[in-house]
Amino acid sequence: MTNLAQTPLSDRLRALIDTVQHNERTLRRFQDLELHLIGAQDFTSFLDTLFERLPREFTLTTVILWLDERAPMLHDLVAPDLPRRPGRHQLKTGHRTSEAGVHLCEEGRPWLGTAQEMGEAACGAFFGSDAPPASAIVLPLKTAGRITGYLCLGSDNAGRFAEGMATDILERFATVVNASLDNVAHRERLKQLGMTDPLTGLANRRYFDERLREETMRAARYALPVACLFIDIDGFKQINDTYGHPTGDRALVMVAACVRQQLRLGDTLARYGGEEFAVLLQGDARDARIVAERVRQAVSVLECFDDGGSRIVLTVSIGVSARNNMKRDDATTLGTALMEEADRAMYQAKRNGRNRVETLESEAQ
Ligand code: GH3
Ligand code: MG
Ligand code: MG
Repeated sequence: MTNLAQTPLSDRLRALIDTVQHNERTLRRFQDLELHLIGAQDFTSFLDTLFERLPREFTLTTVILWLDERAPMLHDLVAPDLPRRPGRHQLKTGHRTSEAGVHLCEEGRPWLGTAQEMGEAACGAFFGSDAPPASAIVLPLKTAGRITGYLCLGSDNAGRFAEGMATDILERFATVVNASLDNVAHRERLKQLGMTDPLTGLANRRYFDERLREETMRAARYALPVACLFIDIDGFKQINDTYGHPTGDRALVMVAACVRQQLRLGDTLARYGGEEFAVLLQGDARDARIVAERVRQAVSVLECFDDGGSRIVLTVSIGVSARNNMKRDDATTLGTALMEEADRAMYQAKRNGRNRVETLESEAQ
């Protein structure tokens, strides 16, 4: 019998399998990084992922994020108190890179190669002149077809990045970096406008009321269904009294994150008051009750512990209100009416025993 392991075909197969496995590992590492970027709550943690995790995971000597100073998002991002970072991982702003980038990244595609291939001028523009990398990737970041920045990755291994390497993972990564930047810029803007709650990181009541007005107008104009949830933590005073205020705060943060996880991207969630949250959903009453039930269930199994390690049982009561096909003239009062109704339904849930989801009996659809 021939030994298959020694045939050229099996060698080729093994090489193929190695490549596939290598690609899978790379993809997984990218995905992990992408999740951190997407989930970043503020610009500082976004930059931490980019400047600490990325070089560590991919053994890079240099990571530079260049943002075009004309990109509108930059005004929301570069706060004067943003800590300056020492070393070779840096955030830079300006438009010195744009000309170099146009030449290097044809049609906005990623560029890979050695410092020599890049040329002194471009290398200076992207990486500075004191410590050029041996090989590099220059990834254009695009917003609505326009290049708004570059992510520049450098290695001290000249053969690491070369022309002709597959760039699809890189292009996807650039899209995620850009979408996350946009998301973080939005969050920072909300913070500057005083629209976020510092404890939970959620939007505050001021923001919610504004969105409620906009969304109900839109719903009325296009005859879309709209729904609200009013969520109140049960017996929270008792939790504070038993475990202390700081532990109460921690529980609040956990409930906030838990509710967020149960919602869809387009839904609006805010901390409406002390231990109260409000949600605006694009959906009908049935849909809203399903979401509310999911929230109730998820909070009830939250693993929240006090300093001594005992489990703190957390539950919420949720009131649901919804409208379908409302008339145009309802639009101005609709938001307030929906919230009042959801609030009353929440009290009904309290009266009926807590840890429940309720819709006002007369309004049930
Ligand atoms: P119910 O089930 O009827 O909702 O009872 P409850 O104790 O949750 O309701 P109540 O309105 O009596 O108490 C709400 C408590 O929430 C009182 C207040 O001290 C606490 N609270 C409000 N904001 C915060 C906060 O930011 N941190 C902490 N730790 N507690 C807060
Ligand atoms: Mg309350
Ligand atoms: Mg309460």
